[in-house]
Amino acid sequence: MAQPIVHMFPCLKDNYGFLLHDPDSGETACIDTPEADRILAEADAKGWKITQIWNTHWHPDHAGGNAAIKAATGCSITGPRGEAAKIPTLERQVVEGDTVKLGSVTARVLDTPGHTAGHIVYHLPEHSIAFVGDTLFALGCGRLFEGTAQQMWTSLGKLRALPDDTTVYCAHEYTQANANFALSVDGENPALRSYADEVAAKRAKNIPTVPTTMGKEKKANPFLRADDPKLQAFVGHPGDIVATFAEVRERKNRF
Ligand code: ZN
Ligand code: FE
Repeated sequence: MAQPIVHMFPCLKDNYGFLLHDPDSGETACIDTPEADRILAEADAKGWKITQIWNTHWHPDHAGGNAAIKAATGCSITGPRGEAAKIPTLERQVVEGDTVKLGSVTARVLDTPGHTAGHIVYHLPEHSIAFVGDTLFALGCGRLFEGTAQQMWTSLGKLRALPDDTTVYCAHEYTQANANFALSVDGENPALRSYADEVAAKRAKNIPTVPTTMGKEKKANPFLRADDPKLQAFVGHPGDIVATFAEVRERKNRF
């Protein structure tokens, strides 16, 4: 079984598009559809034909290109059952525990509500890859549009449980702003400081900071560290994980 190839490229203002290609079967999945024309052109340039779309959530910068890509390729569309009403193009509805196949490649679905009520993540355990949509960002997490702090903390906990060597494909390049914020709440964390230096150096040269790894995020991402006593004390909620997470999220909203 060959390792699948991930081709990542910028879309819209700060989204990333992802094509996941299985060399064994020749199948290609498009993870979310921020910008149909761009995604189709990238697939063409690779000589790949998109056979599937995998949606993480209903937001237009994630599912807005579904119809156009399906019209161009005849691909199938898989996405969250909880958002089927908001993604009219959806064909296969999946929930946590389901698996999605791309040729010989298997993804398992995790329910990660919080950013949206039905948001899902695709985890490829045999390949140490996760497509996390807008649940987790490098040094950040998605805004709580449709969920509570408790829900999002639980969702992020599922991601935090993934192995350190998991390559994490986040859907937006938000990392420099996230790093600036993270330093404001956890500035003495040496893992965060060196990560932030690395981000600044990359962004100065316009190099993507995505993908990241779970190992790096566990050590430096304040939204995964609400159980850290120093962070809890700093934001005024010692011993309270969910209140700490909620406070950090609120502060980021206002930052
Ligand atoms: Zn979103
Ligand atoms: Fe988004």
